[in-house]
Formats: sequence, structure tokens, C-alpha cells
Amino acid sequence: MPRERLYLFDTTLRDGAHTNGVDFTLADKVAIAELLDDLGIDYVEAGYPGANPIDTSFFSEPRKLRAKLTAFGMTRRPGRSASNDPGLVALLEAQASAICFVAKSWDYHVRVALETTEEENLASIRDSVRAAKAKGREVLLDCEHFFDGYKAKPVYALACAQAAYEEGARWVVLCDTNGGALPHEVERIVAEVCKKIPGDHVGIHAHNDTEQAVANSFAAVRAGARQIQGTLNGLGERCGNANLTSIIPTLKLKAEYAEKFDIGVTDEKLHGLTRVSHALDEILNRAPDRHAPYVGESAFATKAGIHASAIVKEPATYEHVAPELVGNRRKLLVSDQSGRSNVLAELERIGLTVDKDDRRVARLLDEVKEREAIGYAYEAADASFELLARRMLGQVPHYFDVEKFDVNVEQRLNAKGERVSVSQAVVKLRVGDEDLISVAEGNGPVNALDVALRKDLGKYQKFITGLELTDYRVRILNGGTQAVTRVLIESADETGEHWTTIGVSSNIIDASFQALMDSIVYKLVKSGAPA
Ligand SMILES: [Zn+2]
Repeated sequence: MPRERLYLFDTTLRDGAHTNGVDFTLADKVAIAELLDDLGIDYVEAGYPGANPIDTSFFSEPRKLRAKLTAFGMTRRPGRSASNDPGLVALLEAQASAICFVAKSWDYHVRVALETTEEENLASIRDSVRAAKAKGREVLLDCEHFFDGYKAKPVYALACAQAAYEEGARWVVLCDTNGGALPHEVERIVAEVCKKIPGDHVGIHAHNDTEQAVANSFAAVRAGARQIQGTLNGLGERCGNANLTSIIPTLKLKAEYAEKFDIGVTDEKLHGLTRVSHALDEILNRAPDRHAPYVGESAFATKAGIHASAIVKEPATYEHVAPELVGNRRKLLVSDQSGRSNVLAELERIGLTVDKDDRRVARLLDEVKEREAIGYAYEAADASFELLARRMLGQVPHYFDVEKFDVNVEQRLNAKGERVSVSQAVVKLRVGDEDLISVAEGNGPVNALDVALRKDLGKYQKFITGLELTDYRVRILNGGTQAVTRVLIESADETGEHWTTIGVSSNIIDASFQALMDSIVYKLVKSGAPA
């Protein structure tokens, strides 16, 4: 049976830009559009020209994309003609191959928010679609609050969708704008719509307010819709939009969809999905969600010893898909609950060949258990585990010594009379025969120490230039005055690799120092720095 084409529409740069704490620059938008294009997304909705300077300039020049670059905007305002509405005119001028209009489809909103008549709203939809078609654009209509509108007055919600379709819109997109619809409702209503408008002209735009945006998208596809709108990593206002990072692998890897549909994402591009997801986090300066389906660091992680020994024998025993297919990896967590099979599998993954009866394996496991008893957590710190293992095998060169360091925090009044804190660190290092002293300021003591440590590593400096700290997490264990501080530092380098290191101490600076040192030494080992 020939497979049907299912289209993916990404709105990370438009709806995703409404995420709390997200502020795209023009350069971010260009970079993300290229990521999406390379992944094989069919439509990249990049913003709302005329609504803000960044979106206006994004659309002011042609962008070389294979995907259909889409500009978003409103249908003409009630009581105006299409040519006399500045917003619509700006939208028609945008350098985009498609235009996605948003229009009301809930009679209640037409009355209360738009303060116009149902007939005028329909006329506005028709006029706007016609004007964009006349400009040679492919047209989409987002029917806002469609599901609530349909429940309140099905005839009118459908009339809005049909008006656009009859006027020549390529897609009519049914939006669950407040994210309150449930999968069985979506499936029923989309099926009703597909009796009037062919499913290969119907799209779904779901929000995640009941954590069912992905399920709602699939419910719509089951009922006939052939376009899914969503965002990378589920970015979006409130609880986010349908997460394309979860939808894409499900479409590619689950037989029910894979046998029925083709999408623009190839198997090869699917292997890059984890990287794309992390690249977006990188641009947003956010730590990746460890528990994200398919692409999260924990998505294929197994901790308990009994599961781990089965996974080593036959991965399919515990995995619903193979992690490599989405560019992720299997992870057997080494922890105090783990047995020899976790440790051996982890050593093998790192590329360290050790006989399974080698006594050093048992010593390593004992060491992990002892350290975890005092607060270390190696399952969260793969790079520190690797260093522990390599040290046990005598594979970590002695690169340098930190002879001493001094960190201070000073709070004072600045010239404007404002209270400011300044941190300064002095680090004395011995690298070979050289004594090196570095001084640095930072926005906090750990930052100052980090900058000073990495300022001058002598002959090793060239190996760590691409090293970057991407996340810093602190946790206080077992409370009270005897509390122990656990610091996890996530680092990345120019190759895009991420790793996590750990430090534990009753003193937060000492714990941070350990984690920083592990990160630097790990980078030196990984870069093949000579002893
Ligand atoms: Zn939306």
C-alpha cells in the first residue's frame, strides 16, 4: 500500500517564542530555522512580521531554505478592506513562501473579543485568503479555539474552516488554543471536519495544558488530519506546544504510523535528533531536560542491576526502540545499586577493555559504592566516573597541580551608591617546571575560581580553549550544620559533546573545585593531551 505524506509544521520561532524566559535574537532565529530545515521539517513558521522589529527584519530579506518559510499574522480587521489594513499589507510584503493567518472560529470570541458579526468574520477570512493567494503565497488558516468553538456551535466553527478551504487555502489548521481538549474529543471532532474538508488539507495545532498535546496530535492524524504543528522540545506559551521532538520518532519508529506515512525527516536525519534537541537548548542557554522522551539523557538509562544484566545480553528486553536510531545512547547507570554488569558495560562503552575477572573491576565497584555512601552520585556524572575508571587503570596522566587557591567575596557600594558583590580568585598552578599564577574576577566565587583556573594552563591551554561550562547544579544533602554539598557541573566543547562532573564536600567551594578540576582533566584526556 502506498504511504501517505504527512506534513510537519514547526512553530518554535513563533509560538515557541512565547515561552517564559525565551527571547530569540535575529541570529538565533536564523540558526534555528536552519536546524529545522536541515532536519527535514516541511514548514518553518518564523514569526509575525510587523509585530516586532526582529520578526520584521527576519522577513525583510529572502532566506535560503528548502522548507516553506511561513509568516504568521491576523486576517484583515473587521470593517476594513484587505488593502486598507496595514497589518495585512505588512504580512503580504514579507519574504515568505507561505502565510499562516489566525482567525477566530468560536462565535463567543467573534462577539466578545472581535466585537463583530459572524458574517463579517467569515468575510474577513475569505478576503485575507484571497489577498494572499493573489500574491502567490501558499495559505494556511489557523482556526483559533476551534475545539471549544466546535463544541459551542459546530456549524459556525466549520463555516470558518470551510470559508478558507473554499477560497483556496492549502491547509485549514484546527487549533486547541487553550490546550484543554482531550484526545477522544479531538479524534471525534477532526473526523467530523474531515467529512467536509479532505484530511490532506487539515492540520492540528495542539497545546500541552493537560499534557496531551502529543496524544492530541496523533488523535487528529488517526481521524484524518495530515499536518501536525508543533515545536522543538515542546517549547511554547504556558505548558508548551505539541513536542515535535517526541512526535517525529514516534512517526518514524512506531509501525502504526511508519507503515502508513512518509514524512520529510529521513532515517539519517532522525539519527541527528538528539543533537538538534540539544542544539536548541544550547542556543537558549538551558540545560537539556534529562527525562525528555527519546532524546533525554535518561531516556535509555537503566539503574537496577537485574535489568542491566538483561540489557547487556539483549537490549530489546527493556527498550521500546533502539537509542541509536534517534542519536541517543544506552546508559547503564553506575551507582551503589549496580552490579558488575553495569560497570563492565560502562567500561566497554567508554572503550576500556578489561577482563571481567580483573580485580580492578571489583575495586572500582567498591570505590563507587564507598563514594556514593558519602554523597557522590556517579549515575549523574559520567565524566567523573570515566576518570575514576581510567585512574584505576593508570590511564590519566598527571597534567598539573593546583598548589593553592584563594577566593574572596567583597560586598561594597559602587560609584552610584548601589550595593554590589565582587568575587576574586587567585590560583597558583604548577605545570611541569612552570609556576603559574592567575587572577580573575567573577560574578560569584565559583565563577571567579573557574575563570582563574582556566585562564592559563601553560602548555595545556590550547587543549581547553573550546571548553565551556553549560550548567551548574548544587544540592545540599542531609541538611543541618553537618550538611554535605554536592555540585554537578555540565560542560561542553567545540565538538558538541556534553559531559557532567561531580564534587562533594562540606564546603561548596571545595565541591565546586573538584567538579571543575574533573571537567578540565576530562577535557585534556579526551583531547589526547600528552603527559
Ligand atoms: Zn498556539
